[in-house]
Amino acid sequence: MMKPVFSGSFTQQAKIPDAAIAAALEVLRHGRLHRYNTVAAEPGETALLEQEFAHWQGARYCLACASGGQAMQIALRAAGVKSGDPVLTNGFTLAPVPGAIAAVGGATVLVEVTADLVIDLADLEQKARNVSARYLLLSHMRGHLVDMKRLSDIAKRLNLTVIEDCAHTMGASWAGTKSGNFGHAGCFSTQTYKHMNSGEGGLLTSNDPDFMARATILSGSYMLYGRHGAGPDSEYFEGPRLNMPNMSARMDNLRAAILRPQLRELDHSIESWNERYDIIAKHLKECSAVALPKRPDDGKFVGSSIQFRIPDIHPDTANALLAGLAQRGVEVKWFGGATPIGFTSSHDSWRYLQRQSLPVTDNVLASLFDMRLPLAFSLKDCALIADILVDEISAVTRAAA
Ligand SMILES: *Cc1c(COP(=O)(O)O)cnc(C)c1O
Repeated sequence: MMKPVFSGSFTQQAKIPDAAIAAALEVLRHGRLHRYNTVAAEPGETALLEQEFAHWQGARYCLACASGGQAMQIALRAAGVKSGDPVLTNGFTLAPVPGAIAAVGGATVLVEVTADLVIDLADLEQKARNVSARYLLLSHMRGHLVDMKRLSDIAKRLNLTVIEDCAHTMGASWAGTKSGNFGHAGCFSTQTYKHMNSGEGGLLTSNDPDFMARATILSGSYMLYGRHGAGPDSEYFEGPRLNMPNMSARMDNLRAAILRPQLRELDHSIESWNERYDIIAKHLKECSAVALPKRPDDGKFVGSSIQFRIPDIHPDTANALLAGLAQRGVEVKWFGGATPIGFTSSHDSWRYLQRQSLPVTDNVLASLFDMRLPLAFSLKDCALIADILVDEISAVTRAAA
């Protein structure tokens, strides 16, 4: 009998909603794409998005940016990172995270991650003390949340300013508090592969008016900061308005117009992602070779991708698995490869950093597989993908035993 094959695309995200297309067309028709190009009392799509996202997130302030990476750079600089300052971050994250630290001249100090793909709190505490770090760019990589209560206690004790990278946790929460609201600031991405899609884009949130005034000037607001949707009062700009450089990292009205209708659907999208995640996770749990990262009860997650480990897998077996899955149309990434492919990258491929030894993380990455779950997949698609995964994993691990 022919083995079933999946024919969907792992890089095709959900369609842009009709309301977003209509709003984008309206912006294109009037042509006022720059966020400050507004007429009369028109607030502009970007300012409205800031207002609506701040409300949805439960943050006082929101600044729309050109990308998630720009949101992180601006946040680090606005938080006071100076050239040469050590900045702690997760040893497993995406390249824009060490990139943001490099952009502000910070010295990245990588912290080990656990088998559950979250920052190792013991290593965090030790490294923070060793290098006298004052900043942590905490990356909730692939949506995995560390115990945020314990992390917040450590940060308080060590006087660490925490900036959260929420690229994969827009809509996730810990013990009822949304990710992004624990640290001094939350940084979100609206790049195509994240939870809202405007091609490129970022959102920065915080409750600190002084921080947000600095961030707003940094984003390139000229003297038009009064036209923001969820910014601090003008008195907060007196200090930074002539003292912060302009990094030109604004969002434009076209992208904001595409995002606003998606924000209205976001809670529903999250439910849909989690339904897809649960189908695949349920099947993988039945596979004895597989270890799934723990998802503690305190966490509410967004299953926009799934990660699993096959502990102690040999690189030849891992490559055989990827090939077998690819033949059946299932695109899985492995973080144990010698060189990065596409979006997989491990810390030793960030050669602009000082080399750092992360034996625990290396061991985790050598066994780590990763798969996107686009909303364009139906639940039936997910059941088929799950069957193929279990089938192929069982075959290669049986052959290797
Ligand atoms: C995508 C991503 C970002 C930000 O990416 P941009 O492409 O700059 O919007 C940050 N952190 C992680 C972990 C990401 O995956």
